[in-house]
Amino acid sequence: MDGATLIRGGTVVGDGGPRQGDVLIHAERIAAVGPNLEAAGARVIEAGGAYVIPGGIDVHTHFDLPVGRVRSADDFETGTRAAACGGTTCVIDFAGAGREPPDEALVAWHEKARGRCSIDFGFHLTVTSLPDQQDEAERLFASFVRQGVTSVKLYMAYPERLMVDDETLDRAITAGAATGVRVCVHAEDGPEVERRAREALEAGERRPATIRWTRPPDVEAAAIRRAAELAGRAGEDASVYVVHLSSEAGLAAVRGSREAGLPVLAETCPQYLFLTGDSLDGPDEEAASFVCAPPLRANADRAALWSGLADGALQAVSTDHCPFTQADRHRGTRAREDGWRDFTEIPGGLPGVETRLSLVYQGVRDGRLSVERWVETCSTGPARLFGLSHVKGSLAPGLDADVVVFDPEATKRLDAGALHMRTDHSPYEGMEIAGWPAWTLSRGRVVARDGEPADEEEPGWGRFVPRTPIG
Ligand SMILES: [Zn+2]
Repeated sequence: MDGATLIRGGTVVGDGGPRQGDVLIHAERIAAVGPNLEAAGARVIEAGGAYVIPGGIDVHTHFDLPVGRVRSADDFETGTRAAACGGTTCVIDFAGAGREPPDEALVAWHEKARGRCSIDFGFHLTVTSLPDQQDEAERLFASFVRQGVTSVKLYMAYPERLMVDDETLDRAITAGAATGVRVCVHAEDGPEVERRAREALEAGERRPATIRWTRPPDVEAAAIRRAAELAGRAGEDASVYVVHLSSEAGLAAVRGSREAGLPVLAETCPQYLFLTGDSLDGPDEEAASFVCAPPLRANADRAALWSGLADGALQAVSTDHCPFTQADRHRGTRAREDGWRDFTEIPGGLPGVETRLSLVYQGVRDGRLSVERWVETCSTGPARLFGLSHVKGSLAPGLDADVVVFDPEATKRLDAGALHMRTDHSPYEGMEIAGWPAWTLSRGRVVARDGEPADEEEPGWGRFVPRTPIG
């Protein structure tokens, strides 16, 4: 059987829970899943003692993104290679750097990705304005769908650059429901954050840790409640998806809204599950490496988010992958050679696309998550939520052979030097974890082996995946 691969004897995590079995791949697709499969002439991957799972899907990355006068450190080549090394086989990146028209953003991002990706990818679009007429807004969204983009993000924060008003958000939610476009929101109360930032600067507060004070949990929770209410009023099929939910208060707003019958979904990110705001209390240059928005929170928030993942209040884990080199962190968004002047000039974002799958697996080791819930939040759920289920997110015959053989005993130190993301700082420096992909297959091709790029890994193998409308 030429071009076939048999993954033999692993614990296959599929519909109906984990069970011993084999996965047979033919060409780029899964051909069969079950016990004792045979395939003469197939390449055999022995998976005894390992989990065999659908490849990770990270629905929140920022590759090659200009932020002020610096740029996120990973481009589509290094970012997707790092993703593959960590068991992620599809990313959805946010196209657009600011207020450029969506069509322009999409052309630019296709250009950035073309010929560089070693795994498949898709795009979200950022919406900063919409036509006043509802039917025109819907025509615009329908044009996104025709281009395979079935999700948009709107900002409730950053008034001077990106924020939309409630009328625009309302039109977007209604248009999303009518056209099958998922509406994601960056939920922070922008004017309140700005007011606090001004107050802090006037009081002479310039240090990185100030972002915890300017962007407190309540600012997130208030925006979530507002977005959920707008979605609730928008009628049948409407919903909002909250990106990078960070706090216990934010999670309570999600739970409360849902109990009130409001359609709100949410993801969190590993940094909010593992790190705390204590990292911002060190010397300024060190603390600057932990700046992100929303900011890192307290221990109680981490615990709450783990339980939200376990009980289904949170649907997905993405990364918001947006790393910077130490040099660019220092220069800041205004690219000052003598360094940023205050916290508002520090480019925000952390690396994560390579470490997500294994970090969330720590929840399985700690007894916080079931194996099924790990796979659901890192792959199957994101695929379903973002219109990829027809090709990815589970181990079913006919789907893309995006498969990870995950060795639960492989250990890894999460130092920047041991990882492939193009950043000279790891927020998890010194942390050792157990559980790492032994094999990562993208449409049947081995793209990573034991956490390193494989011989077959090749920029340009990865394809743009047109996504289906959200049902
Ligand atoms: Zn983001």
